[in-house]
Amino acid sequence: MIIAIDGPSGAGKSTVAKAVAKTLGFSCLDTGAMYRALAWQAVRDGIDLADNEALGALAREKEVSFGHEGGDPLPKKVFIEGVDVTASIRTKEIDLAVSPVSAAPAVREALVAQQRRIGQQGNYVVEGRDIGTVVFPDAKLKVFLTASDEERAHRRVRQNVDRGLGSFDYQEVLSDIRRRDDYDSSREASPLRPAPDAVVLDSTGSYIEEVIARICALAKDGR
Ligand code: C5P
Repeated sequence: MIIAIDGPSGAGKSTVAKAVAKTLGFSCLDTGAMYRALAWQAVRDGIDLADNEALGALAREKEVSFGHEGGDPLPKKVFIEGVDVTASIRTKEIDLAVSPVSAAPAVREALVAQQRRIGQQGNYVVEGRDIGTVVFPDAKLKVFLTASDEERAHRRVRQNVDRGLGSFDYQEVLSDIRRRDDYDSSREASPLRPAPDAVVLDSTGSYIEEVIARICALAKDGR
């Protein structure tokens, strides 16, 4: 069974996806980390971020994988071609580079194929922007998670502080969130939008635990 969780940056998708997966005993796939890892590789290799063909070739050639830490059943580490990029994909440089990289149709084609292969292996909570619309249109449960721009920026700053990564500046984070939302929603290839059959959950002003409980209840109803 696939549970698709889509939504804009900072809506709490990662926290929610991990908690739902843990509660239901599912695996978890962070597709944003795959686009970030590829953007990191493209920047490192000096590839023109507007070159669809070169980016597509990179996406077909380089494998993104996930690793576990200690006894944790959910993956914590991200690798590209065996290089640990867990921390390096959360920088401001990659926040900027990931938008054009993920808008390249050839990149999406390659990564969507990888995501489908991974998801077919069992029960997965898959988070991203196009999971319910493109990657797994037959997902049993589709959630579109959102919150106000300001709340998402506050949450992202708190998350960056906790991780010791990324920007701690609220205004800077808010403008990056708005920039990425515009980019993701207006691109031609798989724009960010809820699937027609998605349950839209606006978490502004709610506790994230309420959202998690709601999704777990929906998943159990649908089984
Ligand atoms: O989820 P996260 O913010 O880490 O994703 C980074 C970027 O990857 C997003 O801004 C978006 O451009 C892209 N992305 C995407 N499709 C997905 C997941 C992420 O285009 N399924």
